[in-house]
Amino acid sequence: MPTCQNCNRQWTWKQTMRTMFRLKCPYCGVKQYESAASRKKTWVISALPAVLLPLYWFTDTSILPAIIILLVLYLLVFSYYPFVMKLSNEQEPFW
Ligand SMILES: [Zn+2]
Repeated sequence: MPTCQNCNRQWTWKQTMRTMFRLKCPYCGVKQYESAASRKKTWVISALPAVLLPLYWFTDTSILPAIIILLVLYLLVFSYYPFVMKLSNEQEPFW
């Protein structure tokens, strides 16, 4: 789980999900940024469903199950984010 770099308190899964897009610490209210290393990791994870989908199409060409599978995969990926996310006090360059 991510730890606030300002007050050093660990966020819960629920708190992280709630502040996912703003990344504001629920304890001290200071804006946090996702660290560059963490962003690389989450980028790879979120690319996974898009990589897996063509494999599915290889065996079945119906579109609706594919969309449902993709949605479920993204939901799983999204709920996994708080476990890999690391925070930083400043915006770090990606590379
Ligand atoms: Zn804090």
